[in-house]
Amino acid sequence: MSLIIQKYGGTSVGSVERIQAVADKVLAARAKGHQLVVVVSAMSGETDRLLALSREVCEQPRPRELDVLLSTGEQVTIALLSMALEAKGCAAVSFTGGQVCILTDNVHNKARITNIDAERVSTSLKEGKVVVIAGFQGIDENGNITTLGRGGTDTTAVAMAAALNADECHIYTDVDGVYTADPRIVSKAQRIDRIAYEEMLEMASLGSKVLQIRSVEFASKYNISLRVLSTFEDGLGTLITAEDESMEQVLISGIAHNRDEAKLTIRGVPDTPGIASRILGPIAAANIEVDMIIQDIGDEKSANFTFTVHRNDYQTAMTILEGTAKELGAEGVDGDDRIAKISVVGLGMRSHAGIASQMFAALAEEGINIQMISTSEIKISVVVDDKYLELGVRTLHSTFGLDNDS
Ligand code: ADP
Ligand code: ASP
Ligand code: MG
Repeated sequence: MSLIIQKYGGTSVGSVERIQAVADKVLAARAKGHQLVVVVSAMSGETDRLLALSREVCEQPRPRELDVLLSTGEQVTIALLSMALEAKGCAAVSFTGGQVCILTDNVHNKARITNIDAERVSTSLKEGKVVVIAGFQGIDENGNITTLGRGGTDTTAVAMAAALNADECHIYTDVDGVYTADPRIVSKAQRIDRIAYEEMLEMASLGSKVLQIRSVEFASKYNISLRVLSTFEDGLGTLITAEDESMEQVLISGIAHNRDEAKLTIRGVPDTPGIASRILGPIAAANIEVDMIIQDIGDEKSANFTFTVHRNDYQTAMTILEGTAKELGAEGVDGDDRIAKISVVGLGMRSHAGIASQMFAALAEEGINIQMISTSEIKISVVVDDKYLELGVRTLHSTFGLDNDS
């Protein structure tokens, strides 16, 4: 008998009919003799609806209260799925994150799981029940409800797989696997059979929202093989696993994109030691994460400094930067929140030169201007004007031979 963790995302549980269809899938797995823990998201659109409600009441709700609100979405789904299972004659029990002791730190809205006490789940499994767990939520050490950030149900599922030492972890969603690019943008994208944790981690952190970044980190740390599968059709999906030799032959495994960032520039700052920390120190102190950074020479004695932040943090970062500009006697500040980041990811890049020039040439041919560049061993990212996002992604997808032409 194997222990399988199944995770169903928002679209998969988006209506009563779909919840019943999920119950049937759970029953089918059980009929094969497996023990099952099912981790579910809120019904599609529910988390956004709750967020909008909170904004009607208050412009900036306290993060603690927001978590109390947002966690209710998943609580609805666990109850409905358990009821649907019971109605089909299958013993089931639902638990919130707190009830199964998913302990997190106290960073509301983007908490990290620190520990899971799997005792209660194990007891229910031994009693022959299907255990249904609310994703995306936990409690901190003072018993406050926390949430794990958008897409956090993936992380709950993988963390549960680690805590219970599960045999398999299946992520059911509205696509039939991880693709070489977002299939909503690139119709010629191809499903990837196997991908290494490291590549998937880059894809996720560069914008491929099919898996939350933290879930891939967990999977890699605890060596859990994850499979991304479609809820709606049969198939093998994509296996995310440790790197092996056959994978390394692939030069580029995918193109990721991200529309969530904004760019800020402070012009004409003195080109002296310590200036970067004078600029970025106050941004960090406001808990704003900085992604890409470039500094270029203005004139002989001054420099221009540009960096990107999440779009949600754009206004706050701009206000801080305006203050810094005054203090430093800078020429001025500029900003642009209509940018997009496009990235080429592949383990094979480690041993191949020339990918960057190929990438830049392809973009130039389409008249796409590159505003910023950053590289690592296995990825190259560029920032471009938002209006070129689709064209840029499709161009690179075909440049690197990823198009499915059949
Ligand atoms: P769920 O609600 O099941 O968690 P998500 O919407 O979070 O589903 O993730 C699935 C979506 O991720 C797909 O519908 C797809 O548009 C998007 N996506 C982005 N990049 C990729 C990719 N490289 N491969 C597959 N899906 C991707
Ligand atoms: N319901 C949450 C969200 O919409 C968590 C999840 O679905 O993974 O982000
Ligand atoms: Mg998701």
